[in-house]
Amino acid sequence: MKGVGPKKAALLASELGIRTPHDLLFYFPFRYSDRSTIISVSQIESENVAIQLIGTIEHIREAGDKFRKRLTAIFRDESGTIELVWFKGIKQIQEYLKPNTVYILYGKPSLYKGRYTLQHPEIEPAETARIAMGSTLKPVYNTTEKCAAAGLNSNGIAKLTKTAIEELFPTISDNLPVALRKKFKLMDRGDALRQVHLPTDAEQLELARRRLKFEELFYLQVEIVKNKMHHTRLEHGALFQKVGDLFHTFYNTHLPFELTGAQKRVMKEIRSDVARGQHMNRLIQGDVGSGKTMIAVLSALIAIDNGYQACLMAPTEILAQQHFHGIAELLNDLPIQVGMLTGSTPKGERKIILEMLLNGQLHLLIGTHALIEPWVQFQKLGLCIIDEQHRFGVMQRAALWKKAELPPHVLVMTATPIPRTLAMTIYGDLDVSVIDELPPGRKPITTWWKSDSRREEVFAFLEKEIALGRQVYIVYPLIEESEAMDYKDLQDGYESIARRFPLPRYAISIVHGKMKSEARDIEMDRFIRGETQIMVATTVIEVGVNVPNASVMVIESAERFGLSQLHQLRGRVGRGAEQSYCILMTGHKLSAEGKIRMETMVRTTDGFEISETDLQLRGPGDLSGTQQSGIVNLKIADLAKDQRILSAARETALEIFDRDPYLEYPENALIRNELELRGKQKSDLSKIS
Ligand code: ADP
Ligand code: MG
Repeated sequence: MKGVGPKKAALLASELGIRTPHDLLFYFPFRYSDRSTIISVSQIESENVAIQLIGTIEHIREAGDKFRKRLTAIFRDESGTIELVWFKGIKQIQEYLKPNTVYILYGKPSLYKGRYTLQHPEIEPAETARIAMGSTLKPVYNTTEKCAAAGLNSNGIAKLTKTAIEELFPTISDNLPVALRKKFKLMDRGDALRQVHLPTDAEQLELARRRLKFEELFYLQVEIVKNKMHHTRLEHGALFQKVGDLFHTFYNTHLPFELTGAQKRVMKEIRSDVARGQHMNRLIQGDVGSGKTMIAVLSALIAIDNGYQACLMAPTEILAQQHFHGIAELLNDLPIQVGMLTGSTPKGERKIILEMLLNGQLHLLIGTHALIEPWVQFQKLGLCIIDEQHRFGVMQRAALWKKAELPPHVLVMTATPIPRTLAMTIYGDLDVSVIDELPPGRKPITTWWKSDSRREEVFAFLEKEIALGRQVYIVYPLIEESEAMDYKDLQDGYESIARRFPLPRYAISIVHGKMKSEARDIEMDRFIRGETQIMVATTVIEVGVNVPNASVMVIESAERFGLSQLHQLRGRVGRGAEQSYCILMTGHKLSAEGKIRMETMVRTTDGFEISETDLQLRGPGDLSGTQQSGIVNLKIADLAKDQRILSAARETALEIFDRDPYLEYPENALIRNELELRGKQKSDLSKIS
């Protein structure tokens, strides 16, 4: 391409992944600066508004010490001066700035010691700026230092994209069917690509971005829907034809409670999956305490009724044990064998379990990651249940598949609710069931947010609750990067609690990740059996642990937890009949985002609402599952902000495949073409999602 020699070509490829002019068209600006007005230095009046200035630069000099260098300069226009400051890329800037040149500057002023400064402003000579601008909305492209040093800064890239669009424009054809474009009032593809790089005005730009977002999300959904269809049609699974004696006996005589409406609905969905001979790949989303364990038990019984084995995998040893004890007790009277296998199962016991597994005597195996190990072999595995899925990666799920001739049905259970459209996107070809109803009689948990200075008040409250016979969790953050300090906090906290709640009146359990698992289990067990009233712990307590008598969850340094983690922790209480409480302790200084998190927790206990806020705050990149799915690589759409477009795109994709599963109608030819084009470019990952 004009303007790209071998050196730039190599840089574009290695640094930015741009290999062709076509790639350039899809290298979208990450923002736009509004360059419609230029003000003078004397007019600067706020830190909040980005401004554009025109003038000259003088007194360029380095300052600071060798650890923290900075470059400063004075910018002057007719009305006055303002200081410019750079902390990074000092050398390049020094080389770039020339005397006696008129520059255009763009940036947000900040107030420092009563005077405005501009830190890291965008800067370019006024002459070339005009040529590159073309409009008042100026695209800003991401680039790297290496590229910038070779002239490929944002402006450099803008010039190239301009050339690319001029050259390619006549060849760009649309990849969305006309009817669809009409229905959603979508801009023509070529126009949209031109607008997004060379916007004429804000309105046109918005329409262009909407069109490109739709295109991106639509094809994402088309591939998902297509893979899912392919999966359901071609992938066979074990056939669980009947709901047999075990299930019926258990359901009619051993079930300790009536299933909630939501539990019944989800069981129906599972039964219809496994009775068709297709492969089930289903995600169960249910808030903490919604009763997912019973779904697991009932599903396992169906598998066993049909002559298959089942396994249940939990993310931690404690959880696996709790599942094992709870489920073994539930199934005690039934003629089936339940076993447990974890990393710490003694050799002798392990040998017996593995034998029974291979000869089919063991019907249900409960355990941790240990179940994935290749030496764990089943006679006839028909169902894998994965509890609290977000700790398991895609590859681990794939490993489970290999343990049987037909891929075992997979049931993934998660207590991290995420918006439904997003779940369908992140989890690819998983079907999604939602348990959106809690068992009856639960009282909503009351949540308070308290500052550290009111600790004594909180302790007094704990004292009262304990006097009523309840138990209390006190949880400390433990972040890997600051592990040593966190353990000190935990230890200090434990000591102060022990002073405030002394023996022999009170007994305290402590549980954290550094303890030997036997020691941890003993402590955990004492708490479960009510021998200790207070459980001081790190987040090992987070998932699944069930102690109905615990009524208070105190979270220390709550500002350091993410929303979904806070929600998980809070879910540890409120499992019994008593009113439960969650107390969020924070310091005085909180980031704006931290405040929103605390306020959200106080306002609602609805997991879906919380996940929605979490998504808005953090973006989907941090949500569980997204890293694996690759959808964070979206170029223009944002799964948090563009959920409406996402829904429309998904519905449209579903409708199209419903009517025309093999895309044979002429009206869908453009879609088929596009898929073929994309198919050439990438391998098929769908099988392991
Ligand atoms: P989670 O979905 O968080 O895994 P659990 O399966 O641990 O929830 O269930 C939480 C508690 O609710 C358990 O004590 C369980 O016995 C109880 N439970 C589950 N389903 C029902 C129901 N339909 N009616 C009453 N209690 C239920
Ligand atoms: Mg659970």
